[in-house]
Amino acid sequence: MTKITGIRCIRTRADGTWTIVKVLTDQPGLHGIGSASDHYHGAAVTAIIEQSLAPLLIGRDASRIEDIWQSTLTSGYWRNDSILNTALAAIDVALWDIKGKEAGMPVYQLLGGQCRAVVPCYAHAAGDTLEELLADVRHYVDEGWPVIRCQLGQYGGGGFLTPPETSLPQNAWSQQAVFDDEAYLEAIPAMFAYLREHLGYGVKLTHDVHEHLRPHNAVTLAKLLEPYRLYFLEDALPPEQIDYFRLIRQQCTTPQAMGELFINPHEWRPLIEQHLIDYLRCRVSKIGGITPARKLAHLCEFYGVNTAWQEGGDNDPVNLAAAMHLDLTCWNFGIQEENHFTPEELATFPGHPVIERGYLYSNDQPGLGIDIDEEAAAALLDPQRARQAKFIAEDRRADGSMVRP
Ligand code: MG
Repeated sequence: MTKITGIRCIRTRADGTWTIVKVLTDQPGLHGIGSASDHYHGAAVTAIIEQSLAPLLIGRDASRIEDIWQSTLTSGYWRNDSILNTALAAIDVALWDIKGKEAGMPVYQLLGGQCRAVVPCYAHAAGDTLEELLADVRHYVDEGWPVIRCQLGQYGGGGFLTPPETSLPQNAWSQQAVFDDEAYLEAIPAMFAYLREHLGYGVKLTHDVHEHLRPHNAVTLAKLLEPYRLYFLEDALPPEQIDYFRLIRQQCTTPQAMGELFINPHEWRPLIEQHLIDYLRCRVSKIGGITPARKLAHLCEFYGVNTAWQEGGDNDPVNLAAAMHLDLTCWNFGIQEENHFTPEELATFPGHPVIERGYLYSNDQPGLGIDIDEEAAAALLDPQRARQAKFIAEDRRADGSMVRP
């Protein structure tokens, strides 16, 4: 039996937003790592892991991944919140890493073996103007990316207005630009009309609404985009309004991708079972790690739903590696969101997965195949930047009220 002897968190990235868990064992040189990163509340995840879960798990048999997952899920009685799930995921992924190293096999072998050679990824193209966006999309097409996400600048781009001072209501909280649903409904279909006119229909394109619209307008947007045959429309609705997916289905055939904010099985089950979405986009580290993600992917298979595990800017290379092992083994994989890192960040994670021309490659080493260089991780962290508070984007409407998320 391999015993867990210690669990600790390593904070890194220049702004301190990455937290990597290291699970130590009583076997010489044998440890596993997992992602515990939470961009906004990292200290809370670290506290749960080091103060609450580590004392429960030290001395336990590291091979009992399923049992450890089930017992830590209910260790606080209340469960399925984003902080606890992230802590659970970090330990779960580290235990899969340990099991793979003990077996002398990559994690994907333990999950059933590869059913695809490589992992296709989608790129993030953006431009403040249609011309800039088209140039960026063409750049990714030329590089060979199989799917490309198209945004007019930042999230909500195309929907921001800069009204003259005189037309703002009195006492409206001062805003440089305000988000307007109707402006977005004009801009995004026009954007796809332009892209299709110049690129044709052979290029696979997506768009991320990032939940900015009122629910009825999300239905309208999905319907307006139908002629442009998207690969998928991402996060048309916030998690609080998932019932509107039924209305979207009744109105159009635009494929729907949803789930990067999901943390609870009650959020995805009805959408899968009622065939209301086409791609499930949970973040592996936000739903509890490889153990639940594998089950979720298999549930999706029976309902014709594909996986598109979330990545994006704030994620770390360890979470990307965990997603990649699932992608290689789940038949109903659809597409993997890409992530890119600086050379200094990559040097901190020897064995990290590599993206080349839009495809993600494993190094086929035992376990996750990725490790953390703790000296490099400490050097990467900028203590001054890490002390600064990080605010989530606060887009607002003309009257000053918040736009979700
Ligand atoms: Mg998204």
